Amino acid sequence: MSPPSLKESHPQAIAVLGVGQAASRHLRLLDVSEEYTRFWGGGREQWLGASPTIVGCENENRKLLRTLNQALANGELEEGYSLSGLDKSSWPLAVGKRALLIEWRITAMTMPGLGERVLVLVQRDISKRVEREAELERLATTDMLTGLYNRVRFDRLLKTEIGRRSRYVRPFSLIMLDIDFFKAINDSHGHDVGDQVLAQLGKILCDNLRQVDVCARWGGEEFMILAPETCLEQAVQLAEKIRRCVGEADFGTAGQVTVSLGVIEARLNESQKSVMKRVDDALYTAKEQGRNRVSY
Ligand code: GH3
Ligand code: MG
Ligand code: MG
Repeated sequence: MSPPSLKESHPQAIAVLGVGQAASRHLRLLDVSEEYTRFWGGGREQWLGASPTIVGCENENRKLLRTLNQALANGELEEGYSLSGLDKSSWPLAVGKRALLIEWRITAMTMPGLGERVLVLVQRDISKRVEREAELERLATTDMLTGLYNRVRFDRLLKTEIGRRSRYVRPFSLIMLDIDFFKAINDSHGHDVGDQVLAQLGKILCDNLRQVDVCARWGGEEFMILAPETCLEQAVQLAEKIRRCVGEADFGTAGQVTVSLGVIEARLNESQKSVMKRVDDALYTAKEQGRNRVSY
């Protein structure tokens, strides 16, 4: 038996398929490992002689069996033949208590002791690895203090939205927000209070946005909002609403906090660089004109 830690990381099922007698050639199971019965249920005895489950989706499985039977009929199941794929059909559905995301491979080989060519099916449950990767991805693209997306993630989403803008001629707007005199908050109340202000501001932003809007901490005390399907006029209204909400909020020790916002609507075929420059310029204007305002 493999050590529990190895089993934990990559549960792996193995099944050996025979190709049947010349007269009635069809694929059937000669043997299955314990893990195979854990993946697909039933006992070993039930599986012997039966048709194999390569993937969880019945339709997909039938298709694969047809492909293999066709290859068999064409005499293609020579040593070295192999077929592989990723089975997402049981993902994220739980089989028993476990979600399965299976990487599988079928390889034709000749096994000493078995007088016929066999196919060996190996199925690896990679769901834990994929979950871990997703968690790492989430950590790498999330701002820890506010729980918002970070700059890396925002950059990616902006790029996608710019692509959509030119392909489907769909509008979108950008809002850049910067806290006014934030340095003074840190200086008078300490960095922790400054951090609390950032976290609370993140929450106010989330509460005021639609599900489709993307909000990110751009860095320091700067935030970005990407509003898909939103023209300039609507984005300015949204920015005004946010400015008012922040101005009216009680930030505890820090008291009242105000923000300045720059707003732009992306132009057709405008580059990411140009979009970013224009929104930054708009924010700069809001600061120059006295702060606690929206500029567009
Ligand atoms: P303005 O109205 O022109 O925006 O002035 P400001 O003081 O807000 O801007 P400035 O760029 O001078 O200062 C930003 C400050 O934000 C300086 C920096 O120490 C602080 N800061 C950046 N990141 C963090 C953070 O994660 N936590 C805290 N507490 N402070 C931060
Ligand atoms: Mg700033
Ligand atoms: Mg500032």
